[in-house]
Formats: sequence, structure tokens, C-alpha cells
Amino acid sequence: MIYAKKLIDKTSFDRIFYANSGAEANEGAIKLAVKYTGKSEIISTVDSFHGRTLVTLAATGHEEYHEPFKQVMPKGFINVPYNDIDAIKEAITDNTAAILVEPIQGEGGVNVPDKDYLKQIEEICHEKDIVFIVDEVQTGFGRCGTLFAHELFDVKPDIMTMAKGIGGGVPMGGILATEKVAGAFVPGDHGTTFGGGPLVCAAANAVLDAFEEENILDNVNEVGEYFISELKKLDKEIIADVRGKGLMVGIELTKPGAEYVDKLREAGFLINCTASKVLRFVPPLIITKEEIDQFVKALDEIL
Ligand SMILES: *Cc1c(COP(=O)(O)O)cnc(C)c1O
Repeated sequence: MIYAKKLIDKTSFDRIFYANSGAEANEGAIKLAVKYTGKSEIISTVDSFHGRTLVTLAATGHEEYHEPFKQVMPKGFINVPYNDIDAIKEAITDNTAAILVEPIQGEGGVNVPDKDYLKQIEEICHEKDIVFIVDEVQTGFGRCGTLFAHELFDVKPDIMTMAKGIGGGVPMGGILATEKVAGAFVPGDHGTTFGGGPLVCAAANAVLDAFEEENILDNVNEVGEYFISELKKLDKEIIADVRGKGLMVGIELTKPGAEYVDKLREAGFLINCTASKVLRFVPPLIITKEEIDQFVKALDEIL
């Protein structure tokens, strides 16, 4: 079966556009929301990450990233605190085109929102005909234990963007949208030369097949829960919190964590530190419990 059909059948969306990266997917999603509504304000969240092109940088809720480029930053982007529905309500105006959120913030420090946060955004968007965009560039393709993380919150967004895991390492991105919203684009409104080439689509097709043939989601859920429970057993002053979903896991430290990234790399483990104090672990979705044990042992020694 062709890839587009196969992927769409697994989601609540009707149409797909192929891009080459996460930032490019988010650019396209924002253009689509603006074209659909004819409005010009986009609400996104503090500590979000949506990419490094000018528009996606403007949507990214980190003032320090904007600073060197402020003379050319696009207007119309409003950042409100994450997981705060009242802040979104206050930021909405007659000119709001879209609300753009990550279902779980990745770069922001593995922030899992309250159960009803996305549902409330969906309701507001529905009521006011605002476009609800989820950025699943990091959370998508099984990372959080469901094919897409918004499924965990039982919502049907208007647009979803994806990249990172989509091609199992082959550079690709994409936008999924409902028929209603997608119809706002007419030929000439958007395009890209390399998007959806046969090589990347073959890779993406193989990735989707692997989810079924190798029961990837079962592994993500089982090993992810095990991973979090093992981390919670590390009884250390320096650990302020352990959190995550599936195999997107973080521990918040009581102090900056950059030095531990270097030490773990020397011990053979690649991790990163986000939001200054959060060590983030996003291992391969096929990781085993034995490998988790090796990692937790090394982490324990290094901390
Ligand atoms: C990585 C990331 C992006 C940007 O993707 P690129 O492919 O690097 O352009 C956008 N949104 C989120 C949530 C990401 O994690």
C-alpha cells in the first residue's frame, strides 16, 4: 500500500504534505493555518521548540534564541506558559489563527501536561474556529508509547507535524491535516523540491511496517515503564524529579546537568541535557531491559 494511505489510515487526518525536516513541516503548518483562517496570530508556549527557521524560531518560546535575529523576527507570535489553559484563553484575540503545542514538551525538559490540557485546547479551538496544531516532531512515531502522543490525550487536532522518527534516520518531515483545513491550500501556495521522494518514502514505509512486525509500541511501553521505575529507585539528593512517557524520559536535577552528559558519553552512553537541569533520555525504541540496566548502573555511579 502506498505510504500516504497507510499512514493516514492510522490517524484521524485526511491529507499529507511531505517536507524534509521538522522546521519545514512547522513552517508549512503555520502557513496553512494562516491561509485557512485569514488571521495572523499564532499562540505557542514558553520553553517550546519548533525549529530554527525564522518563523519556527518565532514560535519557539525561548527569548534568548530570538535575540541575535530580533531585527528580522516575524511578528504575530505569542508565547504563553505551558500547561496553563487560562493563559491561552487570555492570549486569544479575534486575530488568532492557531494554537501550536507539543503534546509533551521535549527540549523544554520532558514536560508532560495535565490530562485535560490538550482536550481543553481542542474545545477552545473548535468553539472559535482556531486551528489546533500539534508538533509531534519529537513525540511522534512511537516515542511516547502510542504512534502519536496526542492519542494519549484523546484529541483530534486539525494539523499535526512530524519529522525525526518518521524515516528511521533518513531525513524527512511531514504535515498531516484534516480535509477541512487542508483544502485552504491551492496549487502554488506551498511546495518543496525534494519532499516525498521515493527514497525517503520507502524508508518511512519500512518504519511503519516495523511497528507492526516487531511490536515496537509494546516494547516502548514495557521498557519505558521499567526504565522510569528503575530511575525512581535511584535514591539521590541530586534528583528532583523523574518523569516521562514511553521512551521519552527525563530526570530533573537540583543543579545544571551538562557535566553528566560528558561523563556518560565517556562511559558509552549518549544523552542530552535540556532546560539546563533536565537530563533527557530518548533511547532507540528497540532498547532492551538489559541495556536499560547497564545505563541506570552507569548513571547511578556518575551521579
Ligand atoms: C527537533 C524538533 C523540531 C525541529 O526539527 P528539525 O528537523 O530539526 O527542523 C521541531 N519541533 C520539535 C518538537 C522538535 O523536537
